[in-house]
Amino acid sequence: MQQGKMIIFTAPSGAGKSTIVHHLLQVFPQLEFSISATTRLRRPHEENGKDYYFVSKEEFRAWIADGAFVEWEEVYEDQFYGTLRREIERIWHEGKHIVFDIDVRGATHLKEAYPDQSLAVFVKPPSYEILVERLIKRRTENEQSLKKRLERIKKELTYETKFDVVLLNDQLDIAFKEAEKIVADFIEVKAEDGNINHA
Ligand code: ADP
Ligand code: 5GP
Repeated sequence: MQQGKMIIFTAPSGAGKSTIVHHLLQVFPQLEFSISATTRLRRPHEENGKDYYFVSKEEFRAWIADGAFVEWEEVYEDQFYGTLRREIERIWHEGKHIVFDIDVRGATHLKEAYPDQSLAVFVKPPSYEILVERLIKRRTENEQSLKKRLERIKKELTYETKFDVVLLNDQLDIAFKEAEKIVADFIEVKAEDGNINHA
């Protein structure tokens, strides 16, 4: 099977990965999102099979035992997330490059597994305080899940230097443009070719 490239977006929760990845998927028809499996509860706006494969802990454990994951992590206590081998195969089979939104440890493992064809981008928030503010304003977390996420942030921010590129997400329009340039350079698409569709 022909192998495409991998662009891995990683950061602490609330930094803006999903927002940036969503934008890139609209701009570049060459990209497709790797839908992870997770045991966390679905948020109201999320769709099973689009944002995640939402599964029970039993199913997730069975998939681990079957070797279905390229990488998986218990990102928060009792909440599992993992990248499925079959997602990678499916997307490459379609002749597309893969975009990932995964945590810093998962990104490290994926980068190790595919060193030559992957680019790992750390999305950096302007400050710890702004990151926390974004996470709270997103209104997706309850008191307990917010606490779990906040406990991890300081450690996750120390991974900044461990990846290929740091993308500052301060002003969103600037971050979008920088992300477009990073992707275009990596997949070797030129804006003047008309391949970048600014719809
Ligand atoms: P992640 O996927 O990294 O957890 P999200 O993409 O969900 O983060 O972003 C967290 C929240 O911050 C969302 O409500 C999003 O709309 C908002 N957000 C993202 N980028 C910015 C930005 N540059 N300025 C202000 N708010 C932002
Ligand atoms: P959320 O619950 O906010 O969607 O995601 C929580 C964290 O899990 C984020 O950092 C997100 O990037 C990460 N994540 C999502 N999918 C995967 C995955 O397949 N593997 C790993 N390691 N982390 C993931």
